[in-house]
Amino acid sequence: MFDTLSERLGATLANLRGKGRLSDADIDTTAREIRIALLEADVALPVVRGFIARVKERAKGVEVSGALNPAQQVVKIVNDELVTVLGGETRRIRFAKEPPSVVMLAGLQGSGKTTLAGKLAHWLKGQGHAPLLVACDLQRPNAVTQLQIVGERAGVTTFAPEPGNGVGDPVDVARRGVAHAREKMFDIVIIDTAGRLGVDEELMRQASDIREATRPDETLFVVDAMIGQDAVATAEAFRDGVGFTGVVLTKLDGDARGGAALSVREVTGQPILFASSGEKLADFDVFHPDRMASRILGMGDLLTLIEQAESAFDQEQAAATAAKMSTGELSLEDFLEQMLAIRKMGPIGNILGMLPGANSGQMKEALAQVDDRRLDRLQAIIRGMTPAERADPKMINGSRRLRIANGSGVSVNEVNELVKNFFEARKQMKQMAGQFGFGGAARSAT
Ligand code: GDP
Repeated sequence: MFDTLSERLGATLANLRGKGRLSDADIDTTAREIRIALLEADVALPVVRGFIARVKERAKGVEVSGALNPAQQVVKIVNDELVTVLGGETRRIRFAKEPPSVVMLAGLQGSGKTTLAGKLAHWLKGQGHAPLLVACDLQRPNAVTQLQIVGERAGVTTFAPEPGNGVGDPVDVARRGVAHAREKMFDIVIIDTAGRLGVDEELMRQASDIREATRPDETLFVVDAMIGQDAVATAEAFRDGVGFTGVVLTKLDGDARGGAALSVREVTGQPILFASSGEKLADFDVFHPDRMASRILGMGDLLTLIEQAESAFDQEQAAATAAKMSTGELSLEDFLEQMLAIRKMGPIGNILGMLPGANSGQMKEALAQVDDRRLDRLQAIIRGMTPAERADPKMINGSRRLRIANGSGVSVNEVNELVKNFFEARKQMKQMAGQFGFGGAARSAT
């Protein structure tokens, strides 16, 4: 997902690297290339037009600043606009004041509603809720059984019509499902509705009737991100035919160009609440526009990090560190200093998540293991090294590792891990900084 778009945007923005000033012609060329990249990613034309107009306007007003060179500022503008197109702030799911809350799922057949019902229930359960799944897809053979299986996997109860009792009337099942939840103290009802292969009136009417009957707190339009431009037309049809309060994108793991994700918010005016990215229960998360934008740009949120760094450290030290990052000369001493300063800036996971490459598989794994206690251990390990070792970690051989481990009360494995991660991070920083020209500004700022 987004690979091609990421590559193209990355290449376009990298072309600006090293430019001290941007001429109008530079901005026009860049805007044209971004436009092509977005169109190729299947982003809806009106969305592309608005996006480009805003980027151009802001890029032309760019002032030369000590902190960022114009090229970097354009990267930041594109990032900001991506965040806006994706919805700006993260929109959390809304619950009823009086339980049970009702969440209704609507969308085409095959969009991933039933799978999502299980994931959502699983996620809500993890947050301490007691969700009830209600099977109102009575059209598709096996849909009820499928929901029951998904429910079992998620460890939640499924309310399904008993044979001969209201079978065939999804509105009735929905109503009884909500009543059942109230009676049995479930606090959230998730209603799975029928989809069709295409948009049709009967489908819309049925979904509207269920909506009328159950007055959901959220009606979520579930859309397969792989259907490209069709997503926009389908979303409009559901907006007009049923109405919804939020969008869920599914199949973000697929080999899609990503246009749906970038268009659906702006076209429908409704926020994306969740994203689904695989067939497993855990392949599901709250949708964060800022993180998605960073992922599209493929560069982590290096700008934010640099900005925060600049306000948390003194300017000179930040610039020196950025320069070291870009040339790959970062030492463990710098790393330790950074860690100490960074700890003042907030929870460590957030900060490390902003580093370029943070979305790569390896970095993700490393990040998942970072917590503040682990950081204390890392600090202890680095403190156990000699200044020469910190300056040139390559010299840390087997016997040195053993000494450091003993001295700082950790295992040799932990020392190995730290050194390995450090080299990996340094390599990635160098690559990313090189690609986007961060070294230049940092050096010129010193
Ligand atoms: P429904 O007809 O809307 O209820 O759709 P289903 O939940 O039955 O999903 C249709 C197909 O898409 C199934 O084969 C699912 O396993 C698959 N699917 C659903 N969500 C995802 C996802 O996020 N990623 C991938 N790769 N497949 C998914």
